[in-house]
Amino acid sequence: MSIAPSDKVALPAGPSRDLYRVVVVGGGAGGLELVTRLGDTLGQHDRADIALVEKERTHLWKPLLHEVAAGSMDVSRHELDYLAQAYWHGFRYRFGEMIGLDRARRLVHLAANFDDEGRLITPERSIGYDTLVIAIGSVSNDFGTPGVKEHAICLDTPEQAQRFNRRLINACLLAHTQAEPVRPGQLHVVIIGAGATGTELSAELHRTVRGVVAFGLDKIDPNKDIKITLIEAADRIVPILPKRLSDSTARLLGELGVEVRTGARVTEVRRDGVQLAGGEFIPSELVVWSAGVRGPDVLKDLDGLEATAANQLVVRPTLQTTRDDRIFALGDCAYLVQEGETQPVSPRAQAAHQQAAYLLKQIQHRLNGQPIEPFRYRDFGSLVSLGEFSTIGSLMGFIAGRGLFVEGYFARLMYRSLYKMHEAALHGPLKVGFDTIARSLTRRSEPHVKLH
Ligand SMILES: Cc1cc2nc3c(=O)[nH]c(=O)nc-3n(C[C@H](O)[C@H](O)[C@H](O)COP(=O)(O)OP(=O)(O)OC[C@H]3O[C@@H](n4cnc5c(N)ncnc54)[C@H](O)[C@@H]3O)c2cc1C
Repeated sequence: MSIAPSDKVALPAGPSRDLYRVVVVGGGAGGLELVTRLGDTLGQHDRADIALVEKERTHLWKPLLHEVAAGSMDVSRHELDYLAQAYWHGFRYRFGEMIGLDRARRLVHLAANFDDEGRLITPERSIGYDTLVIAIGSVSNDFGTPGVKEHAICLDTPEQAQRFNRRLINACLLAHTQAEPVRPGQLHVVIIGAGATGTELSAELHRTVRGVVAFGLDKIDPNKDIKITLIEAADRIVPILPKRLSDSTARLLGELGVEVRTGARVTEVRRDGVQLAGGEFIPSELVVWSAGVRGPDVLKDLDGLEATAANQLVVRPTLQTTRDDRIFALGDCAYLVQEGETQPVSPRAQAAHQQAAYLLKQIQHRLNGQPIEPFRYRDFGSLVSLGEFSTIGSLMGFIAGRGLFVEGYFARLMYRSLYKMHEAALHGPLKVGFDTIARSLTRRSEPHVKLH
């Protein structure tokens, strides 16, 4: 069922009460693309009032977080200021975290914001909508494993990734300056969960830790003192890849010196290491948890919207939530099982990107009083980057609907293209071209690892 712009109700929030109000909550891989394009096409031409509700002030594309954690990416070069983006692209930026919803009055409730000294930045308030798109992504799922919250670091936000990187460099500095020799586990990183994120992080870390040590921390012997262990409960790593490719990935990691442990289940994370089912204990200074995702807690009961046990909003093929035609969900926080399939669309940037492009068209249709068409996800395959060593993956539909295995430079180019598509959706292709050239020029004269 579609809803015409005339279904508006009078609401207290927002200066443009006469215009149809589209509110997107969450400015991530999908939400920011959508709100930017809605602003360009509708907001700037006063055809609708477009707003983004976002709890952070800057955006960083989430698949870059393992590079931030490893120290091979400078966040300041890739983050985007929401306020500026809103100004350039004709939408309003509403800084705040969604903490609730009033579907009857069409209001999104936002929490108050305070600075580090407890001073109020923005008060608790509500924003009115006519169409609402929820795109608040996912958070790590620790499945109730003891000690994860206290002792492991998740890679959900740039702050967490930067915290991991600081702790890693601090551990190297201590090992270099202490009087006694490096003790077992002191420079040991355990990564729990060998999906794409954990696997990519292990390869990237292997390179960057050696890069840091090479800058004069000569009391550390990288081959003897530094150890990276990747733990996976399933019987193979990166299960999104065909078995042949996940075997090659495991072999490549082994050649780098990354210890890969499959069929190993973690029962507890402790301050000094990781406990496995079966009794083995792996001493470790740093533990990263990357073993699955779930929707943020606010989705558990969002004014009666249907959600799964993992807090994802159940949506229909139009991405409308099952109990409210005005509310859509996209990306990691949406649970969509497509017709003829048994598994939901996986939580990936590729899906968020396609859903954002789809919703842009459907919201335009809605404003023109046209019916909404169903969304169809097209899986273009999966690629896993092993940093500078290799990129491995399969691209779908190239040979009569079958997958094509790719590796090396071409695979790396394809891997990077997903980020370029995201940047192009936010800035246009011309700016992306200039930025890429500028970044590659300055990168030549700077350290390739973060040293502080
Ligand atoms: C290290 C890492 C590597 C990855 N690599 C890949 C890859 O190679 N390929 C791939 O396809 N996918 C990859 N992914 C997965 C990919 O990042 C996600 O699938 C994608 O970011 C989901 O997009 P999204 O728009 O749904 O959510 P996100 O990009 O997570 O954005 C959600 C936004 O909502 C905001 N938000 C959250 N809660 C609230 C709230 N209550 N109120 C207001 N705002 C809120 C957040 O601040 C954030 O800006 C990777 C993920 C990680 C962590």
